[in-house]
Amino acid sequence: MIRVLFAAGARCWPDYEKVLRQALAEAGLSADLSPNHAPERVDYIVTAPNGDVQDYSPYTRCKLVQTIWAGVETLTDNPTLVQPLARMVDPGLTQGMVEWVTGHVLRHHLGMDRHILGQDGSWRSEVPPLAADRPVSVLGLGALGTACATTLAGLGFAVRGWARRDREIPGVEVFSGDDGLAAALRDAEIVVLLLPLTAQTRHVMRPDRLALMAPGAVLLNPGRGPLIDEAALLAALDSHLGHATLDVFETEPLPADHPFWAHPKVTVTPHIASATRPATAATVIAENIRRGEAGAPFLHLVDRDTGY
Ligand code: NAP
Repeated sequence: MIRVLFAAGARCWPDYEKVLRQALAEAGLSADLSPNHAPERVDYIVTAPNGDVQDYSPYTRCKLVQTIWAGVETLTDNPTLVQPLARMVDPGLTQGMVEWVTGHVLRHHLGMDRHILGQDGSWRSEVPPLAADRPVSVLGLGALGTACATTLAGLGFAVRGWARRDREIPGVEVFSGDDGLAAALRDAEIVVLLLPLTAQTRHVMRPDRLALMAPGAVLLNPGRGPLIDEAALLAALDSHLGHATLDVFETEPLPADHPFWAHPKVTVTPHIASATRPATAATVIAENIRRGEAGAPFLHLVDRDTGY
């Protein structure tokens, strides 16, 4: 019997209990999900940064800590978490992010606000350009960034992407490295941030990089708040940027007196761009436990050196 501790929080246990039991059974695993195992007897922990376990040191036999979040910066910071750590790559989470990004890209591409918010009786017959004439850049080409970049390319957008390592993605012009970042950002009209938060990516959008974006350009951030130097963004919005649609912030919840709330060129969404969906995530969790039991390599392991 495999002992699995669900420590991602009592609040989400009702959403996971049935689907996780079912996924484990479908994976051919006999698992005990009791919350009362002695820590030294637990084989696997399913966790979340705001979950029940903050000190992982008593879990001496634990083969894997599997988080239900995609972002791991608050787990990699935990000095007691020395067990292998897997981040969540969930098809449902990815689909949600594709929908959020596509919706917000199309909002700005089509200039929807002019017609939804700006009905003032004037007949402005400005036809939006085709997607092929709209340069969109996606920073971060992991599980989420690649899905978004590919979807946008499929809609016809001129998509550039940036990652740490070079690769080929059909329909996407891929850049890497510092020079590559400048090439990806130069004259971009819509930029989407889907990087993890690490020491290297903190404030990646600083004044000189914001300055590379086209006049009137739009920045979408469904990644992590500290990817952006917020003061620099406010200054760039007051000079050349057209809009920022932000889902994540340096401080969350965004304080009521934060200038983003009232800024006419900022749209705030409250960290809802996407979320892990229990039904599909349960299958991912069960597959990793199956791998652990079969001695096969775990999926989506976090590299402690790079921090993601
Ligand atoms: P991922 O699969 O780990 O992908 C990360 C991407 O960033 C990879 O392409 C990686 O490059 C690139 N990268 C990392 N460090 C870099 C650097 N220094 N320079 C250039 N590229 C770098 O992550 P994911 O699953 O796509 O998720 C991305 C982030 O989205 C998460 O970390 C999380 O913070 C955020 N998120 C937000 C929400 C929300 O609701 N707002 C929901 C889920 C996730 P390589 O491919 O070369 O390794």
